[in-house]
Amino acid sequence: MRPYREFEEYNIEVQEGIKDRYKSIIADLGEDVNREGIVKTPERAAKAMMYLTSGYDVDASEILSGAMFKEDYNEMVIVKNIELYSLCEHHLLPFFGKAHIAYIPNGHIVGLSKLPRVVDVFSRRLQVQERLTHDILECINNTLKPQGVAVVIEASHMCMMMRGVQKQNSTTTTSGFRGQFEHNETRNEFLKLIGSDLS
Ligand SMILES: [Zn+2]
Repeated sequence: MRPYREFEEYNIEVQEGIKDRYKSIIADLGEDVNREGIVKTPERAAKAMMYLTSGYDVDASEILSGAMFKEDYNEMVIVKNIELYSLCEHHLLPFFGKAHIAYIPNGHIVGLSKLPRVVDVFSRRLQVQERLTHDILECINNTLKPQGVAVVIEASHMCMMMRGVQKQNSTTTTSGFRGQFEHNETRNEFLKLIGSDLS
């Protein structure tokens, strides 16, 4: 597995292959691939797509385990409104929104900036919102082994907004809870603190 880093280097052979296929897709869609504004689009699109799926093979648990500190803090830690951008695996269209994460430490805390990074790693793959929620939850639960962990994601899906039913104002909420958060009282406290109407 590659260590996590901002992904700016691309496998050039893979990039060339994707570029060529984008060129035929754009032609099939009815465009003139030699038009000035389009001529470099296959390459740009290949790079963009590779960046947006650069979370494959990145070990998210390594991000957390590299920044764990021994600490006797036993209260809820919440990071809310984490921006999230992902791609739906059914249509290859974006879905985006916010993630809210909470955990109750069990002897260890983690550097706060690492939680958004975990969100990025799992978001930069072809996803469904349900699995994205689960991936983040399980990664934190298995690595940090906290007394409890909670993840709520609220997202808008371009595949719903731009096509088909065109429900432009609908958002989808998914959630997962482990440990202490499986108890109503703790879960409701968290939901209240993030201002969610799930409680
Ligand atoms: Zn979709």
